[in-house]
Amino acid sequence: PSQAPSTTGVSNVVRKKLMGYVGFANLPNQVHRKSVRKGFQFTAMVVGESGLGKSTLINTLFNTKLYPGKEVPAPSAERPKTVAIESISADIEENGVRLRLTVVDTPGFGDFVNNDDSWKPIVENIEARFDAYLEQENRVNRLKIVDNRVHACLYFIQPTGHSLKPIDIEFMRRLHTKVNLIPVIAKADTMTEEEIRDFKARILSDIAYHNIHIYEAPTYENEDEEALAEAEEIASKIPFAIVGSDNVVDTPDGRQVRGRAYPWGVIEVDNEDHCDFVKLRQMLIRTYMEELREHTNSVLYENWRSGKLLGMGIAQDPSVFQEINPAVRSQEERTLHEAKLAKMEAEMKLVFQQKVQEKESKLKQSEEELYARHREMKDALEKQRAELEDKKRRIESGRPLTPDQKNTKKKGFLRT
Ligand code: GDP
Repeated sequence: PSQAPSTTGVSNVVRKKLMGYVGFANLPNQVHRKSVRKGFQFTAMVVGESGLGKSTLINTLFNTKLYPGKEVPAPSAERPKTVAIESISADIEENGVRLRLTVVDTPGFGDFVNNDDSWKPIVENIEARFDAYLEQENRVNRLKIVDNRVHACLYFIQPTGHSLKPIDIEFMRRLHTKVNLIPVIAKADTMTEEEIRDFKARILSDIAYHNIHIYEAPTYENEDEEALAEAEEIASKIPFAIVGSDNVVDTPDGRQVRGRAYPWGVIEVDNEDHCDFVKLRQMLIRTYMEELREHTNSVLYENWRSGKLLGMGIAQDPSVFQEINPAVRSQEERTLHEAKLAKMEAEMKLVFQQKVQEKESKLKQSEEELYARHREMKDALEKQRAELEDKKRRIESGRPLTPDQKNTKKKGFLRT
């Protein structure tokens, strides 16, 4: 928690040991094996008022003490007056599959007397991450692109049992086009089953009324029945009513479970009859982690990127862009596509030129080396000839040979 705020933060990466099966070992089944060697990167953001159980849930989800225990908040007079952005990264490994997990926390969100602009630093942070990615994409060497974009945002709804609060609606309205929103009802153990059912219905109708798009797991045409049923089942639980716990407790029937013990019984985190934690984990980690990354890349980031390009060149206001007629729009899309192609072509040219230059300078170097060697050999031969001539003259004139000349046979003149 005391980590320095960082926008794209991979600082302070620590290695953490898992205490049980989490589920990202299933990632290879979700994508190509090549990525397995490189490892995976996943960034999750958690947003919600302090004390709603955000850090506890992250620890519970990844079965690791990513958050070793939060500091008690300072008295309100001493607390900062703005939302901070803090990120923690950890390299975790399960059955040989490596995952660099980054959790972006947003302390302060919703904690002030006036929370009107609480969403702003969060949007700015998400966009700064898009910017950083775009900048890397524009580089010639794209092999080492680091993806620090936020792939999922868990939005914690206070378990009031009423309906969404203005701050919830405002946040989701501002963020739903930029991040995969996953709303969760925090501390669901504080509500009865019936209250949760009604609360979920009200939340969903608020979300629909405000045209907010929350993340939906995709279903594909040729999908088998089992996968379809799973997707449906996950979808039916949104917004997930969750319970988090760092502790293992004893159940009355003698089992040890992750849960919360109350005088009247134990709430089990991993029991689907008790809460939706298992379904949330399935969506976030076991089944759709790759889909969340993919959707971030091909839909959210791509929309932001084309909006940005249009903003720079053609239409200034994004709402104007949406209303302009289809012909103009397709023209703009064509322009955009052409610009993209031109950019790629320019990059390829640059790479080609660089390669040619490298080859040329290498050739030049070996040519020079060859000349130098040639000169050296010529000099040595020249010297050898002069000495032989001298030797010949001495022999002819009957003069004695120098000790050097006597040894020439053994020594050999020419170094090659
Ligand atoms: P954060 O400020 O949102 O990160 O909240 P913490 O994870 O630090 O949790 C605040 C308090 O709520 C701690 O005392 C937790 O033990 C408790 N807590 C966390 N999750 C739950 C939950 O699901 N149900 C209940 N009843 N309490 C929880």
